[in-house]
Amino acid sequence: MSEILNTWLGRKIDCECGQQHEIPIRRIVIERDAMKQVAHYLNENGYREVTLVADARTYEVAGGKLREWLEHAQIKVSLSVIRQNAMGEVAANEEAIVQTLLDTPLSSEVLIVVGSGTLHDIVRFVAHRTKRPFLSVPTAPSVDGFASVGAPLIVRGFKMTIPAGAPEAIFADLALLAQAPQAMIAAGFGDMLGKHTSLADWSLGRVLLDEHYCELSARLTREAVELCTAHVEEIAQRTDLGLLKLTEGLILSGLSMLLVGHSRPASGAEHHLSHYWEMVLLQQRRRALLHGAKVGVATVLMAQRYEALLGITASEAAARLAQSQAPSELTDAERIRQAYGAMAEQVIAENFPANGKGVDAAALKARIVQKWGDVQAIAQAVPASEQLSVWLEAVQGPVTTEQLGVEPELVEASLQDALFVRNRFTILRLLRLL
Ligand SMILES: [Zn+2]
Ligand SMILES: [Zn+2]
Repeated sequence: MSEILNTWLGRKIDCECGQQHEIPIRRIVIERDAMKQVAHYLNENGYREVTLVADARTYEVAGGKLREWLEHAQIKVSLSVIRQNAMGEVAANEEAIVQTLLDTPLSSEVLIVVGSGTLHDIVRFVAHRTKRPFLSVPTAPSVDGFASVGAPLIVRGFKMTIPAGAPEAIFADLALLAQAPQAMIAAGFGDMLGKHTSLADWSLGRVLLDEHYCELSARLTREAVELCTAHVEEIAQRTDLGLLKLTEGLILSGLSMLLVGHSRPASGAEHHLSHYWEMVLLQQRRRALLHGAKVGVATVLMAQRYEALLGITASEAAARLAQSQAPSELTDAERIRQAYGAMAEQVIAENFPANGKGVDAAALKARIVQKWGDVQAIAQAVPASEQLSVWLEAVQGPVTTEQLGVEPELVEASLQDALFVRNRFTILRLLRLL
């Protein structure tokens, strides 16, 4: 059991932020041979029938073994091995969701996912919509979505995060995680570094638009990323301690999202850039890049933009704001149509919900001037882009868009238009007013 994580399980918290928080996860085990505890957990909780979801690779490295152990413990196992798409990849899309549904008999009481982020997203959604609990057996410490509630799915080519549920228990087997490719470990670390800019973006929303903000969730997210940066050498060398800290960080970040019920603490402009790149690669039928690898590189780009804010004085900011053209719903919709093509209507619906109230640009500009000191303090708290690059390099992750394999035109387009991926205030939305 992980000390850091288990203090939060099964707790109801009346929080200072005004919300009541609850963590529905019952058990988190991060240790060597954690997978061996799954059968015992199922028996303990009276579950007799499960559906095990994996892909061909994760079935080979872990799923097959787990199935054997479960059957040995008299548990009935149905199997769903998610097929690859035309690009030889498993994607969290309509096809994979339907396959999982078809492979899950009505009598299955629990889903067990053996795999990395994408498989978790599929199962998280299916489990939620069929009102079944699910157990998580991660095969790589590559994303912070294991413990989370949102399922990022690709629907009609558009990446959208659908509210779903958290796993009932997580069994992270360090022996298994140690076999993960270095690129996936680096990706998990990159996803964690992104918390620095996502937290800053959330603070901007709080200061400039009075967005709901939870100190506790923000603090846990910060602790999660610090667990990782404090152990960067161990993570680079893939020691048990390094893998433990990275996995704890990833799961703790998930818990901080669970507290508030959305991904705001852990996903800001760096994720919007990553999602934008992902959608374009998908449209162009190119191979997908690891989520955390994209997020890590995008974090460096966003940190550079926070750095740039530090050089702007309050009076310069006021002068720029006075001159800048405020975006309107009309001009934004036009821009979205040009940038998003077939997905435009979905993106417009995300940005201008029918019952939502728009942001008054003049009031926002006045607020930015008034709160410029706070904005600078938020920027100051983001680590230097140089430091983020050193960390990424240490774990052998890509640092630049070139190393990642995203061409300059796509980077440029994303810096312009990725802000529309989510209707959330971020550094990109601030910068277009300045
Ligand atoms: Zn992420
Ligand atoms: Zn709170």
